[in-house]
Amino acid sequence: MAGLKLNHIYKVYENGHKAVNDFSIDIEDKEFIVFVGPSGCGKSTTLRMIAGLEEITAGDLFIGDTLVNDVEPKDRDIAMVFQNYALYPHMTVYDNMAFGLRNRHMPKDEIHKRVMDAAKILDIEEYLDRKPKAMSGGQRQRVALGRAIVRDPKVFLLDEPLSNLDAKLRASMRTEITKLHKKLQTTFIYVTHDQVEAMTMGTRIVVMKLGYVQQIDTPINLYERPRNKFVAGFIGTPQMNFFDVTLDRQGDTVVCTFDDGKQFTIPYEVVCKAQDHYLHGKEQVILGVRPDHIRVVDHETKLQAKVNVVEQLGNESIVYGQLALDEELSVKAKNQIIIKVPADSHYESGQIINLEVKVEKINLFDQNTELTLLNDIPDYSKFDAKASNGVMEFLGSKIKMPSAFREALVGHEDIQIQVPPEAVIAGKDYQLEVHKVEVFNGKKLVSLVYGDRYLFLQTDKDVKKGDLLKFSLRYDKLTILDGDEVIVEPIPNEESLVGTFLKTKRKAIGLGKTYVTFEYVIEGHKIVTPMDKVVKITSIEGDACYSKQYKYVFKRENIQLVTEGMGIECEVQSIIDYGNSRYAKLVTGGQSLLIEVDQFFNESMVFIDFDGQDIEVYEQDIDMRLC
Ligand code: ADP
Repeated sequence: MAGLKLNHIYKVYENGHKAVNDFSIDIEDKEFIVFVGPSGCGKSTTLRMIAGLEEITAGDLFIGDTLVNDVEPKDRDIAMVFQNYALYPHMTVYDNMAFGLRNRHMPKDEIHKRVMDAAKILDIEEYLDRKPKAMSGGQRQRVALGRAIVRDPKVFLLDEPLSNLDAKLRASMRTEITKLHKKLQTTFIYVTHDQVEAMTMGTRIVVMKLGYVQQIDTPINLYERPRNKFVAGFIGTPQMNFFDVTLDRQGDTVVCTFDDGKQFTIPYEVVCKAQDHYLHGKEQVILGVRPDHIRVVDHETKLQAKVNVVEQLGNESIVYGQLALDEELSVKAKNQIIIKVPADSHYESGQIINLEVKVEKINLFDQNTELTLLNDIPDYSKFDAKASNGVMEFLGSKIKMPSAFREALVGHEDIQIQVPPEAVIAGKDYQLEVHKVEVFNGKKLVSLVYGDRYLFLQTDKDVKKGDLLKFSLRYDKLTILDGDEVIVEPIPNEESLVGTFLKTKRKAIGLGKTYVTFEYVIEGHKIVTPMDKVVKITSIEGDACYSKQYKYVFKRENIQLVTEGMGIECEVQSIIDYGNSRYAKLVTGGQSLLIEVDQFFNESMVFIDFDGQDIEVYEQDIDMRLC
C-alpha cells in the first residue's frame, strides 16, 4: 500500500515527440485514479513511466516516499495488468498465477496460499487446472488480475484491461474491478479511453488531451464544473450541447441569445463569477448545456426546437432535434440539440417542442480559450475607479494613492481596477457587505457587494451574509486599466533570469588531483549547482547542456542581497512603492527583475545571489522543467 507523487513529469520520445507535459499529481494511498482521454493523449505513456517500462525524461516520481525514477520495474512493488492479458498459453491458470512468485523463490506453501486466496477473490477456483485458451475473455482477464493480486503490490496499474471484452462483460467486469479495489485496499491507477469507465470507477479522474492534463477532479466535479470545453464535451453521454450565444445583463437577469434570436434568461446570481465584459451582449461565448438539463414544457417558451429523431432506451429517451425550425438551417451542426426525456414521454419527428433550460446547471466557455467563465474561485473582479490629485476613489472609499499608482496614473482619471481574491487582505481601508459565503476545497470564498457586482475574497474568518467586512488591498496584486490599456500590472510571485550551465575541471591544491564543479552562470556570476540538479540536467540534456541557455526561475523571497562583488551586479533603476509593500526594479545586462525592499532602501547598485537549491531550471526550446 502506498501513495504516489508525480512531480512535473515530462516524456519526450527519441523522435522529439513530447508525449507528456508537466504532469503533476499527488495520489493518496488506496485511491482509484483513472487516466482518461482520446487515443494518443499520453495516458499509456504516463502509466508506463510509473511502471518503469518507459524512461522519465524529466520530473520526479515517488512511490510512497521513495524516488523511483531509476528503480527497475521489478523493484517498484507494482503490478501491471494489460489489455491483452499476456498469459502464458502453455501453462495452467494456477501456474500462470504462480509463475512470478516462483521466479522470486517464494516458499511453495506461501505461493499456494496466495494463488488460492486470489482465485477465491476472483471466483476462478474451479478453473485453476485449465489452460488460458479454454477460457473466455472475461475469465482470462481475471487470471491476469489474479497474477497481479498474488504479488501483493503497493500499486496496481491497469492499462485498458477491459477493452478486448464485449460491452456486457465490460460492464460486469467494471463492477468487479471496483469491488476488487475495495477488497484489496490498495492504490489503483487505471487507464482507459472510455469516459463511462472512468466516471463509474474512479475516485478521481485525470482528463488528458494531447499530452496535457486538462483537469484532475472527482467524477461529479468533472460533470458539473468542467474547467474547459474539451472536458465538458468528453465527459457525459449523450454529449453536452454547445451553442454560440451572447449574454446581456439587465439588472438581476442575464438574457442569453442564440444566433437566430432564440432566448432564455438566467438569474445574474448564476453567472456572477463571469467577468463583466462577457455580459454586455457584444462578445460571443459558448453555452454548454447537458441533455439532462433541458426540459420539455407545455407552455410556450422563446426556446423552441423541432424533433428529428427519438431514441428510446427503455429507462429514458433521447430526443435529437434542431433549434432552427426551417429546413435549410437544420444541417448546421450548431443547430443540433440533444435532450434527455423520461421514457414515458412521446414525441414525433417534426413536432415543435418548447424547452426550458435548468439555468443553474449551465456552463459557459470563452470562444477563444475555451476555458470556463464560471471558475469556482474567480480570477478577479473588475470595478471602476477614479484617480485624481493623488487620491483614488474605489469601492466606496477614498484612499491616498501609493506612489506607484500616482506616477503611473498621470493623465488617467477614469480607470478600472481588477482585484484578484488574493489581493483582499485584513485591514480597514474599505468596508463592504457580505453577500454570500461558499466553501471550496475547505476554504471559504466570500462575495462582497459593491454596486451591482461582487468582490471575491478567501478567508478563514467567521463571516456571514449581511456582515460588514472591513478589509485592505494588496496594491501590488492589482491590475489597473484605462479601457483596453493596461497601466499597472500586478507583481508576479516568481522571477526569472536567463543564464548558462558550466562544468569546470579544477585541480585540488596540493593533491595533484582534479575534480569537477558545476555552476549556474547568470550575468557572469557563478552559483554552485546542487549535485541532484546536476545529475538531472546532465542526464536529460547530455553534453548539450554546456552550450545552451536556460531559464532560471526563483521565488522573489529567495533572492538574497549580498555584499559588493559577491553576487550578480544589478543597477537599481527605480523604486516602486505600493505603501504596504515596496520593490526595487533591478537591471542586469539586458535583463530585469524586481526585489522586495524596505522603506529605508536607497541604493543605486546592489548585488544579488541565490542558493542553487532554490532555482528551478527550464529548457527554453521545448519549455520543459528540468529540475
Ligand atoms: P494513449 O495511451 O493516450 O493513447 P500514448 O501514451 O500511447 O497515448 O501516446 C502518446 C503519444 O506519444 C502519441 O502521439 C504516440 O503516437 C506517441 N508515442 C507513443 N510511443 C512512442 C514512441 N515509442 N516513440 C514516439 N512516439 C510515441
